[in-house]
Amino acid sequence: MINTKELTIKKTHEALKKGDFTVLELAETYLKNIEEKNKDINAYLEVFDDIKEQAEIAQKKFSDGTATILTGIPMAVKDNILIDGRKVGAASKILKNYVASYDATAISKLKKEGVVFLGRANMDEFAMGGSTENSAYGPTKNPYDLERVSGGSSGGSVAAVAMEGALVALGSDTGGSVRQPSSFCGTVGLKPTYGRVSRHGLMAMGSSLDQIGTIGKNVDDAEIVFKNILGKDIFDSTSQDAPENISTTKPKKIGVPFSFLKQGGIDESVLSNFNETVEKLKKEGYEIVDIDLPNNHYSLAVYYILMPAEVSSNMSRFDGVKYGEHKDGKNLLEDYMLTRGEGLGKEVRRRIILGTYVLSAGYYDAYYHKANKVRALIADDFRKAFEKVDVILTPTSPTPAFKIGEKSADPISMYLADIFTVTANLVGTPALSVPSGFTEKDGKKLPLGVQITAPHFREDALFDVGRSIEGRV
Ligand code: GLN
Repeated sequence: MINTKELTIKKTHEALKKGDFTVLELAETYLKNIEEKNKDINAYLEVFDDIKEQAEIAQKKFSDGTATILTGIPMAVKDNILIDGRKVGAASKILKNYVASYDATAISKLKKEGVVFLGRANMDEFAMGGSTENSAYGPTKNPYDLERVSGGSSGGSVAAVAMEGALVALGSDTGGSVRQPSSFCGTVGLKPTYGRVSRHGLMAMGSSLDQIGTIGKNVDDAEIVFKNILGKDIFDSTSQDAPENISTTKPKKIGVPFSFLKQGGIDESVLSNFNETVEKLKKEGYEIVDIDLPNNHYSLAVYYILMPAEVSSNMSRFDGVKYGEHKDGKNLLEDYMLTRGEGLGKEVRRRIILGTYVLSAGYYDAYYHKANKVRALIADDFRKAFEKVDVILTPTSPTPAFKIGEKSADPISMYLADIFTVTANLVGTPALSVPSGFTEKDGKKLPLGVQITAPHFREDALFDVGRSIEGRV
């Protein structure tokens, strides 16, 4: 019997190397967990049918001595990351039977290592949302309380790891989609520096914000997967390697924007847990510095102008001609309208309309252009803050996981949940959500998380502080 609860990538690698179990036995243990739990949780949209073949390829690497740390590691992949020859649909009806014609760069890198891809993870349609309720295939439920959301948009990837349905997972993060569900489900979620991981083969949502992120049960696992997918890629002109002269000094000073945290709207349980984390870090020798991020309160507004603008442009390719489902009307315009009207969900259509509006000739200057200017001011605040501190700490989400249906009728209340996460995407900095304990609601234990943000390319600082929070330094 393999006890998946105790496994980490390193432990699994050692066990596979020693032959304690085979790659197939490991994969089958996870498949059994999925069979038991997925009907309730809905983390997976599809479990792949070639796991035996994938396991054989990985096992061979162990016998011929070419195995690496990720060989045979079972992974869930968000439904917006392309795997050649496999269905991929961004949890949207419009891409119901769409099959990918190439591998995303992150996938081809992981294939080389012999990772075993278990299946496609559920998500908010085209990654738009914060609860996975916008999936065309029903929400992913929180493994800690089935009446609550898993978070989103990478809710399926995160829940897969939290329910022992995969050891690690890939998600995507445009405004918090790897970090927020991680804080709801007790996993570690990394959003790398913008451009550090190639976006080639990741379905675009907001191209200036999107990054593929990694999810694991601990900081080490999220770090290992990240280190195996990063790097400049000829297929993504915004991808880049870390500059050679980047500092790697251990972080000592942690900035906390205390005045921003006092603004209200943050659940008491989150605030007190956050303060406990701060105290813990103080005891471990970190210096806590009160910092000011004067334009931070504009982040949400800026994100919800720029993101839909980019969404409206990126979504134009789904017209029923080039990709996916097609509905026949009386003429081409009617084809477009029927296809998009029926194929795309409400939230996606809302964002296309919003984005088209802020980009329209009459409003471009008032909204899109102005938001871009404020984006630069927010980035400047961070630059200045990082002259004084090594990393910045905030809660990941203002609340623990909320109830299914609680916010879905009111998009603004859903958007407010992104208050702490969208800034890292606007600024391009890396950010990590780390579990920081639990709270109790309605008799159920619910995970909480804190978010660490570091200067560009300083993921190492995130992992360092993250391990201190885990208490494993
Ligand atoms: N919740 C945010 C949104 O709805 C973030 C989405 C994401 O990161 N993909 O836009």
